[in-house]
Amino acid sequence: MSASDLPERVLHAVRQVVPAEIGTVGLHEPSFNGREADYVLDCLKTGWVSSVGAYVDRFEAMLTEYTGAKYAVATANGTAALHVALLLAGVEANDEVLMPALTFIATANAIRYCNAVPHFVDVAMDTLGVDPKALAGHLEAVAERRGDFWFNRQTGRRLRAIVPMHTFGHPVDINRLLTVCASFNLAMIEDAAESLGSTYHGVHTGNFGLVSALSFNGNKIITTGGGGAILTNDAELGKRAKHLTTTARVSHRWEFTHDEVGFNYRLPNLNAALGCAQMEVLPDFLERKRQLAARYASAFSSQQDLHFVREPDGACSNYWLNAILLPEVQIEQRDTVLQILNDAGLMARPCWTLMHRLLMYAHCPRAALPIAEGVEKRLLNLPSSPVLV
Ligand SMILES: *Cc1c(COP(=O)(O)O)cnc(C)c1O
Repeated sequence: MSASDLPERVLHAVRQVVPAEIGTVGLHEPSFNGREADYVLDCLKTGWVSSVGAYVDRFEAMLTEYTGAKYAVATANGTAALHVALLLAGVEANDEVLMPALTFIATANAIRYCNAVPHFVDVAMDTLGVDPKALAGHLEAVAERRGDFWFNRQTGRRLRAIVPMHTFGHPVDINRLLTVCASFNLAMIEDAAESLGSTYHGVHTGNFGLVSALSFNGNKIITTGGGGAILTNDAELGKRAKHLTTTARVSHRWEFTHDEVGFNYRLPNLNAALGCAQMEVLPDFLERKRQLAARYASAFSSQQDLHFVREPDGACSNYWLNAILLPEVQIEQRDTVLQILNDAGLMARPCWTLMHRLLMYAHCPRAALPIAEGVEKRLLNLPSSPVLV
């Protein structure tokens, strides 16, 4: 086949992994083959469906045990977890918070909820997450030190934190990022929404930042319907995470008193019940997803000009969403490829529109974004449900 057969070649490779007899497949579908029904039914029978109940504690305990983080606080969704994580890390109104231009909108929104300003930086080709080298170069050009903190010379705002995101489950180059954070006194908040089950040099993602956020939305590797969690290894922050996400209520047998403006961000027991059952099958999901990724890698290995996105060196990815990069010279064929795949019942989609192109974030400060802009044009996500294995 020649280079002009690009759409057919992509379809052919995907068909080797997802045969036609499977029928229509989504990008990432949930599966409930464990004890989900038992646990949810238990909530209904006992009446513990809402903001209190044993499944919340159990789910949080399962998360700390699995990730190795000392504290986990379950939340209503991943965006809420990010919002509170940023507050816990000390982000204040009018601060600037660095983040990748290539991410889901939640990362930027959570920063805005703190009345802070997102500052977009470029990603690296090997991780699709924040590039430490480009970040350091950018900060050296725009940041100046005033006392304990560094400020954006162009806007006058304090550079308070950075939110790296582990794109499609592939861990960012965390050690190098931490070095840059130390040089510029930036707090790190990991957006680990996509990386439950992914490790970096053997340590679970979410353990490197001061605070981190997970998501259990319907399309994530495990789901609670909607849900998220804050992870931290700091006892004080763990306690505050619980307090802030539960309306900042002062514990008392009958009095209702609150000592600051908190949030109703708690995960209902009903959703936590689903989460407990999903955590039990997570190891099985991960095994299947790695097998699926290996099949895609093999199917695309004979196509010299198509690049299957693999886990970075030193990292073990959950391969949440499989992705390929189309050849640069044929990006004008991207939509034809998408159309052929979707017409064949294979849900595929491009990555997110970069944050600086969105109306509400177009005015935000940013670095040069050559890699993110290239990836935006070339990347396609492919069907990635664990049931496909
Ligand atoms: C899913 C996701 C979130 C959180 O999303 P919710 O739907 O609020 O749980 C945050 N950041 C990224 C990068 C995500 O993919």
